[in-house]
Amino acid sequence: MVLPYHAEPATDFTKEENKKAFREALEQAKNDFGVERPIIVGGEHIETEDKITSYNPSDKEQVIGHVSKATAEHIDQAMEAAEDAFESWSEWDPKERAELFIRVAAIIRRRKHEFSALMVHEAGKPWNEADGDTNEGIDFIEYYARSMMELADGKPTLDREGEHNRYFYQPMGPGVTITPWNFPFAIMTGTTVAPVIAGNTVLLKPARDTPLIAYKLMEVLEEAGLPKGVVNFVPGDASVIGDYMVDHHKTHFITFTGSKATGLRINERAAVVQEGQDFLKRVITEMGGKDTIIVDKDADLDLAADAIVNSAFGFSGQKCSAGSRAVIHKDVYDEVLKKSIELTEELTVGNPVDETYMGPVISKKQFDTISEYIEIGKEEGVLKIGGEVDDSKGYFIQPTIFADLDPKARIMQEEIFGPVVAFAKAEDFDEMLKIANNTEYGLTGAVITNTREHWHIACRKFNVGNLYLNRGCTAAVVGYHPFGGFKMSGTDQKTGSPDYLLNFLEQKVVSEMF
Ligand code: GLU
Repeated sequence: MVLPYHAEPATDFTKEENKKAFREALEQAKNDFGVERPIIVGGEHIETEDKITSYNPSDKEQVIGHVSKATAEHIDQAMEAAEDAFESWSEWDPKERAELFIRVAAIIRRRKHEFSALMVHEAGKPWNEADGDTNEGIDFIEYYARSMMELADGKPTLDREGEHNRYFYQPMGPGVTITPWNFPFAIMTGTTVAPVIAGNTVLLKPARDTPLIAYKLMEVLEEAGLPKGVVNFVPGDASVIGDYMVDHHKTHFITFTGSKATGLRINERAAVVQEGQDFLKRVITEMGGKDTIIVDKDADLDLAADAIVNSAFGFSGQKCSAGSRAVIHKDVYDEVLKKSIELTEELTVGNPVDETYMGPVISKKQFDTISEYIEIGKEEGVLKIGGEVDDSKGYFIQPTIFADLDPKARIMQEEIFGPVVAFAKAEDFDEMLKIANNTEYGLTGAVITNTREHWHIACRKFNVGNLYLNRGCTAAVVGYHPFGGFKMSGTDQKTGSPDYLLNFLEQKVVSEMF
């Protein structure tokens, strides 16, 4: 009997013993700095000349390690290996596939701090965010394993007199998983293992900025006994292998989390039927957000400020779900703004090894983009706090609040993916909702109100995939808050939902007459 799913609890870092264990893990992780990792194709570890170097965003000269780079030729080999492995992996009893992954989760759970510590160094994640990332990875595995067990026998259909029908699920074939740096373990793991638990095989292309944490998953999959070729590890340059993987005639599905531009490109390319391809590719994308917290006039204003600040600045705002817009009723606008500034003044920024609230942003590229948006914000609104950027040691940006924005301003419309939040004033609840819905995105949102009726209106009209009442708009938990967005936020196949595995399964009907 498999125990029912529950989310992995967060590590309590107020406990001295946990702090100590985590500090040790952070030290331990340094022993691996400079390590060289191979690509993995059909179980074979291959070293290439050309490598990706992963740096510490808090200390930009510090090398975390090097990872070999796959070429188009490796992708062909990996596809072949994935196709071969599919023959037998797809024949495994779905419950046995699920059991193998429960073992995978158990191994990660035992080594939890090792994974989180690496993310502190490689992704600049603060302790609690890194811990949350590892836990969410475990949650995805545990949840999808159980989901497969439930789907294993199919679903009931009706029988007529003299007839027996069955309705069940089967995997599709090899596919491609392209993963982001912002949840470099959780999303990478979830989007890799879901298709695999469903019986497919995968080519995993991890984000360029965080390949080493992705390699750790590969280590665990090998240790747990996943057959060779089921997951092939192919880090590389998007310009060299990205399109090639998507276009490949053997690719059955592409699961992608990342920028809107890349998501749209994948969606378009995947629609083209290639020579030798006799099926349609499925595309699952999660592409971004411009998420809004609206604050009603009768709201708990301390709660509102807390929700705004933590949603905006947790992991330096580098979440698709980050609350980058606060739309506030005119009667309480000044008060919420003041409270938010006060809370922001208390936040610490620095190398997260030292237990800061915020670390750096991930890379020079992101640092430059966010810095540009801060300049745009200075033109469009009133800078209330923050605005300072410093990349002398690492890519640090102070938590930044802009006030008095026009709802159509660029920093109210475009995804910044950094620690910047824009405040706008509204006349009434109706106008707040209109502003909340006025972007091309539709991922998350929150309503801070004590008027029950307004919550019900928001449930119908606030057009986002994940809407929250009287809390922040980040931190969806697998199985509790299935996650995914509308409009240009993606294809809305909710991760961590009872339906997610269906994206990687074909539904088959067999019917016999007696
Ligand atoms: N699931 C995460 C949350 O609810 C966000 C994921 C993302 O940034 O892609 O905060």
